Amino acid sequence: MQKIFDCQYIDGRWSPSANTGCFIEVENPSTFEKFARVPEGNNDDVDAAVSAAKKAYPSWSQTSMQERLDLMKKMLEIFKSYEKDIIELEVKELGQPYAFTENLQCRYQFARVQSYIDCAAELALTQKLAQSTVYREPVGVVACITPWNYPLGQVVQKVIPAVLMGNTVVLKPSQHTPLTVYYLIDAFDRAGFPAGVVNLVSGKGSALGTRLATHPDVDMVSFTGSTRVGIELSQLALGSVKRISLELGGKSPFVWLASEDYAPAVGKLFDSIFLNAGQTCTALSRLLVPRADKEKIEALLIERAKEYKAGDPTDATNRIGPVSSRAQYEKVRGYIKLGLEEGARMIVGKVPEEASCGYVIDPVIFTDVTNDMRIAREEIFGPVLCVIAYDTVEEAVAIANDTIYGLNAAVFGPKEQAVAVAHAIRAGNVYVNDAPRDITAPFGGYKQSGLGREGGYAGLLEFTQPKAIFDLSTY
Ligand code: NAD
Repeated sequence: MQKIFDCQYIDGRWSPSANTGCFIEVENPSTFEKFARVPEGNNDDVDAAVSAAKKAYPSWSQTSMQERLDLMKKMLEIFKSYEKDIIELEVKELGQPYAFTENLQCRYQFARVQSYIDCAAELALTQKLAQSTVYREPVGVVACITPWNYPLGQVVQKVIPAVLMGNTVVLKPSQHTPLTVYYLIDAFDRAGFPAGVVNLVSGKGSALGTRLATHPDVDMVSFTGSTRVGIELSQLALGSVKRISLELGGKSPFVWLASEDYAPAVGKLFDSIFLNAGQTCTALSRLLVPRADKEKIEALLIERAKEYKAGDPTDATNRIGPVSSRAQYEKVRGYIKLGLEEGARMIVGKVPEEASCGYVIDPVIFTDVTNDMRIAREEIFGPVLCVIAYDTVEEAVAIANDTIYGLNAAVFGPKEQAVAVAHAIRAGNVYVNDAPRDITAPFGGYKQSGLGREGGYAGLLEFTQPKAIFDLSTY
């Protein structure tokens, strides 16, 4: 693998970047060791990758769904055979513990690929209307730009449905966690996908992302990352009216309705906001609690937080690893200081000191937070929970919706009331009580959390466009 980490994958070949001798080093956030590197690609690499994708498109888009499914199944088998290597590498590049990495970063991604295969196999791509037939056709060359927090997950959510629906792809993963993606691309290569169907360029977003978003031969930009960059890229892409799909940030609420016992909801809350060191777009970062039960809930949170130890990810007693980089560490540390300055009360955790060995941040819980504080409004993207008290359910819903985001939410409490609150919250996904995720459900945001959907049938259709043909001979 080391050999291909020095390369990019363009037109069916592993080849060095045109930016000869320039690389980006990958740091282990737990040890600060720079243990690998990938090419720092440039615009010539992007142009070569787009040209290969454009050349491959006419024949790939004409293949049958069955041909594409057969190749994708083969790819998945090869991808799965890399499981052990993927987990080991992901623990090093992202820094999260083995068990979490195995489940969420690796096996869940295999399940996602399988789910796309199953959904694509039964998706209706033709619809007969009163006097026309509507066909779902691929969009063309799709640029996929992804973040570092779920390095394989975000890539799987784009590349698999795009390719299954007959598009060709140029992928630019995050430069911070680029390594495990090489296993996925290698699996595509070994499965025998035609040259140019999938291409990988590695490098910095500001350079390559801009080129991809403005390239005349790119038909669609599918971006996952921060709202700020998503807006910037979209403005560029709209210059030539490209299709845009955006998966952006969040500040998701968890509404606890008055209940006898809140203990059953703590696991979902803490897993969401603390695992992956809080670096999850859907993290339930605002906990809304009935004011009358605030103290009881605070005591419960303090007690249960002891189960969420942060530290070296290779020590099995730690459930949380470091945050992913020095920049991320300083950003989260800044927000923790800010919370105290804004008058929030810290009941769990401490202000992190200068990072000396690993960017480890202990889980932090702030209470007495009001929704106008910056720690309640801005995406911290770290293990920091804000507890906000409310007096009435109407107020809880208003606070939940008082955000520029709308990616995710959850409600805990008496079933009927919880379902009613779930309907009132403006977010793309809302969980009620202990309901698990449905891998085939659409995933995506309301408001500034995004445009478009990933996952299942909706995620496949995202990479198609409808064409209506009016042909009286068929009626
Ligand atoms: P980011 O926006 O900084 O970077 C995302 C990608 O865009 C990276 O590949 C990066 O190299 C590239 N990029 C950066 N600056 C660019 C620019 N100026 N022009 C073009 N491309 C550029 O985000 P991040 O820090 O990697 O990831 C964290 C963010 O991603 C959080 O806001 C999180 O909520 C969001 N996220 C959203 C989802 C979702 O599905 N909604 C999932 C994961 C992460």
